[in-house]
Amino acid sequence: MTHPTRSTIISLAALSLAGCAAARVSHPSPSIERFTLTIGADPADTVAPVTLRLDLPPRVDSVVVLQLPSEYVGRSKLYENVVGLRALSTGARLEPTADPDKVRLIVSPNRPASVAWRLRTTLPSSSSADAHNFSDIGRGVAQLIGIDAFVLPQVPSTTPVEMRLRFALPAGAGHAATSFGPPRGPDSSIIVRESAGAVRRALYTFAVDSSALRERRITVGAGNLTVLLRGHQSIPDSVLIAGVQRVISVERAFWQSAAPAEYLVSIGVAPRGGLGGQGLSNAFEADIDSMRTMDAGVLELFAHEMMHQWIGSGRMRASPRVADGSLSWFTEGFDDFETHRVMHAAGLLNDSAYIARVNKVIVDHALSPVRDSSADAIRAGRWNDGSMQREPYLRGELLAYRLNAAVERVTQGAQSLDSLLKRMYRSAKGEDSGYTRDRLVQELGAVIGTDVARREIDRTINGGEIDLPAGALGACVEASTESRPRWDPGFDIDASLASKRTTRVRPNGPAAIAGMRDSMPVVGVSIYHGDTSKPIQLSVRTDSGVVKLRYSPQGEKVPTQQWRLRTGCRTSGAGRSLGLPATPPRPR
Ligand SMILES: [Zn+2]
Repeated sequence: MTHPTRSTIISLAALSLAGCAAARVSHPSPSIERFTLTIGADPADTVAPVTLRLDLPPRVDSVVVLQLPSEYVGRSKLYENVVGLRALSTGARLEPTADPDKVRLIVSPNRPASVAWRLRTTLPSSSSADAHNFSDIGRGVAQLIGIDAFVLPQVPSTTPVEMRLRFALPAGAGHAATSFGPPRGPDSSIIVRESAGAVRRALYTFAVDSSALRERRITVGAGNLTVLLRGHQSIPDSVLIAGVQRVISVERAFWQSAAPAEYLVSIGVAPRGGLGGQGLSNAFEADIDSMRTMDAGVLELFAHEMMHQWIGSGRMRASPRVADGSLSWFTEGFDDFETHRVMHAAGLLNDSAYIARVNKVIVDHALSPVRDSSADAIRAGRWNDGSMQREPYLRGELLAYRLNAAVERVTQGAQSLDSLLKRMYRSAKGEDSGYTRDRLVQELGAVIGTDVARREIDRTINGGEIDLPAGALGACVEASTESRPRWDPGFDIDASLASKRTTRVRPNGPAAIAGMRDSMPVVGVSIYHGDTSKPIQLSVRTDSGVVKLRYSPQGEKVPTQQWRLRTGCRTSGAGRSLGLPATPPRPR
């Protein structure tokens, strides 16, 4: 995500006004892209209830290539959600291109032009496994993410944009909110001056049915915070809002960065057992299982998504020049590292919960079926395989602990990876083009040397065993080696559920020992994926009636490092070492 400052845009505007025509031809991107976008609702339309309209000012060129939603976090063909795309102005028309995600708008030069489209309803977030990553469109409430909802002129993500955003909702509609603040005034609009990338990676939420969206506007420090809540949660709104405030206060204190004028948090309902979210421009989205009670896992979700404000977006984002997903070990793994460090320092995780969290990362990595897969294989498979998707988080977080230990060793505890990342953040300025692997080697090697940094990155990111050096979690925490069983169902679950017959039962595996044979008709299942402590239960039909197989999905044992607090040894000053105030800020 790119967040150019206001002054960047003004200086670029001055440049393009002053520049000669030749300069403008060779540098087409710095000029500002101006448009008006109107978001409306037509709840009578049961198929596509959200209406959008793009108004472009007069321009010299007569052809504008419009970019439709295309691919986003593992889903593709998102243009199929756009219906009825048409040119509105006289003399303007749309032409298809060879790419289904692009259309050409042919307009009369120096005349304004408009196009309109609608968006289809989506599965509600509570019944769509990856709903937290996408627009959530219903007839009563709709939450749009620009990237999978907008049809905008095709420009590089760094192009400055001046967007007049207008909400045209039916009388009596409920709240509307965006990453850039709520709409204001009689025409319910807001002027957004951001990069094209930031506009696309932002949230735009509104309710037609005023009871479908609860809204709280509060201030945290010098910034405004809007919290939106959709659907029913077991956790009371006030508890969720207090958790959000606490996490925001703690992370802003850690990074010592000014609050954006507006920040938006949108909380929805995840499928049963689910918990997920994403960090966006000045916003994060979090979906929680409606039966879940408040716990450290919910705060951790908030903290991880909020942490993307600093790591993985804005100044410390991956360069658009690197392959998508190739720096996830940094943008996700270092995010998780700092999430756990800051939660521990702020008292949101006590010592034993923090150590348990690190141990879980070590075990999950040691037992992962893709532990030895190459970084390229992981990147290629990340949207089709849960283990591959998780792997960069694990490798990156463990790498961060190793680098942190190295920085502490070299500086005898005077510096840490925390202080180094803060320095990187402050010096990044936000005017450069993001991070590449080489730039990370240079900057992460500033204290320990670039050769050491490169070696550390290579040995962790390319697959294989990862352990942490002695003292990695402080003087009071020591390591031992424990054997843990791999999760092993002993048959092909996906193929069996698809064909409703047991498939590829491994001879002498745990399923075979429990009595499973190939081709048994499956009539019922209970499986906790990846959890070796929960039995697999499978009801199969046999000649003598339905038989219930119940067994422990434990496979070969793998030695893994585990850490524990030494009895009698006291830790102190975790918060101070991370530069947090001695008493963490309390929610107001
Ligand atoms: Zn993330």
